[in-house]
Amino acid sequence: MDKILIVEDANFFSKILSTSINKKLGLPVIVAKSMAEAKSHIANHGRDIVLSLLDLNLPDAPNGEIVDYVHSQAIPSIVFTSLLDDDMRETIIAKNVIDYVLKDNPSSVDYLTSLVKRIINNRSLTALVVDDSSTSRKLYHKFLTNYQFRVLEASDGEEALKIIHDSKTTTGNAISLIITDFSMPNMDGCELIREIRKDYSKDKMVIIGVSASGNNKLSSKFIKTGANDFLSKPFFPEELLCRVSQNIDNMEHLLALEKLASYDYLTGLGNRRLFFDQATPLLASAKRKETDIALAMLDIDHFKSINDTYGHDIGDVVLKALGETLTSALRATDVVARMGGEEFVIITPDISADKLPEFLDKIRVRISELSFEAEGKSFSITASFGAINYPVDNLEEMIRLADEALYESKNSGRDRVTITGTA
Ligand code: GH3
Ligand code: MG
Ligand code: MG
Repeated sequence: MDKILIVEDANFFSKILSTSINKKLGLPVIVAKSMAEAKSHIANHGRDIVLSLLDLNLPDAPNGEIVDYVHSQAIPSIVFTSLLDDDMRETIIAKNVIDYVLKDNPSSVDYLTSLVKRIINNRSLTALVVDDSSTSRKLYHKFLTNYQFRVLEASDGEEALKIIHDSKTTTGNAISLIITDFSMPNMDGCELIREIRKDYSKDKMVIIGVSASGNNKLSSKFIKTGANDFLSKPFFPEELLCRVSQNIDNMEHLLALEKLASYDYLTGLGNRRLFFDQATPLLASAKRKETDIALAMLDIDHFKSINDTYGHDIGDVVLKALGETLTSALRATDVVARMGGEEFVIITPDISADKLPEFLDKIRVRISELSFEAEGKSFSITASFGAINYPVDNLEEMIRLADEALYESKNSGRDRVTITGTA
C-alpha cells in the first residue's frame, strides 16, 4: 500500500499535516521526528513509501541532510521550511526536490495536501515532451519525471503525432500532458496543437506551449490555437510545476463533473442523459445498415413494499445488485442505464427478433434468483420487462413503445417479458 512519509520534529505541524493528508486523500502517513527515526521507517517500509515531506531543519540533521538521504533511497520529496532566502532556494532546487513550501501560514497545509494528491495521481499519467533540442527535452524530462509522470519524448511534430496515436492504440492509456516548443523543423508548435485538437479537446489533454521570453504574441497565439497554457523561457522549475499541476487539476475536475453529470451515483450505471448519448448512434447505425436492434425497459415489481418493509437502505442495496446483474448479463456492445427510480433501460444491437425473448428472459430469471438478507430474513425480487424489437423513428419513440409493453407485463401479473415487434 502506498504510504507518505513525513519527517518533522514539530509535533503540531506534523499532526495537522498528517491528519489533512490522511482524511482528505485517504493515504496512510508515517511520521518521523528525526533523521534517525526516518531511516528506521524507510528500512521497515521500503518501497511502500512513495513520497516524503521533509523538514529541512531537524535536531539530528540541521542542514537539510535528510533530503540527500531520502534521495539516496530513491524516494521523491517535497520540503518545507520556516525560513527561505535566495541561496537556500537554489540549494533546495539543486537537490531535485519536487517543490518547497514555506510553513508560515495555515494555507501551507492545504497547499501541501493538494500537491501530494497531484504527485500521487501523476504516477498513473503520461507526459510527452516535444522539442527539437535534446538539451531542452532532457531538462523537461528530468522535471516531469520528478513530478512522477511517465515521460515520452519527440523531436518534432510528426513524431509527436505518431507517439500520441500509438500510445492510444497499444495501451489504451492516452497522453495527459504535452509540453511543446514552438520553433521546430517541418511542423511548428502551433501546427502540432491544431492537429492534436482535431482528436483531443482541452479537457482531455493538457497542452502547454513554450515560447521564448518576451514574445507575447507567441503566448497568445498558443492559447488561441488550443494550448491550455504557455510558459516563457527561461522559467523557474516552480513555475513549470505550478502550471502543469493547475492545468492537470482543472482537467481532472472537469472529468469528475462530466462523470457526475452522466452516471448514477448509486448503481454506477449511466444515467438517462448518457443513455441518449450512447444509444442514439446505435439506433442510427442500425437503421442505416438495416441491422437488428432492440430496446427494453424493466422495472422492479412492488419495489415500494421493499422500501416500506426493510427500509430505504436495503432498497438501495437491491438497486445496486440489480445494476451489477444487468452489467454482467449484457454484452460489451449493449448499453444499459438507470432511467430513474427502479426503472432501467437496455439497448441491444444485433439481436434478432427471434432471439430477443430468450435473451431478456434469461436476465429476468437471473434477477429473480438474487437473494437478499434483511432483519434476519431473506427475500428475493422480480422485475417486469417491456421491449420493442425493431427500430422506429427515434429513441423517445422506442422508449415509449417499450414502456407500453412494460405496462402490459405489469397488468398481466408482473415478473414477465412483453415484446412489441415484428416477429
Ligand atoms: P410496480 O410493481 O407497479 O412497479 O410497483 P412499485 O412499488 O415498484 O412502483 P412504485 O412506482 O409505486 O414505487 C417505486 C418506489 O421506488 C418508490 C420510491 O420510493 C422507490 N425509489 C425510487 N428511487 C429509489 C432509490 O434510489 N432508492 C430506494 N431505496 N428507493 C427508491
Ligand atoms: Mg416498480
Ligand atoms: Mg416504478
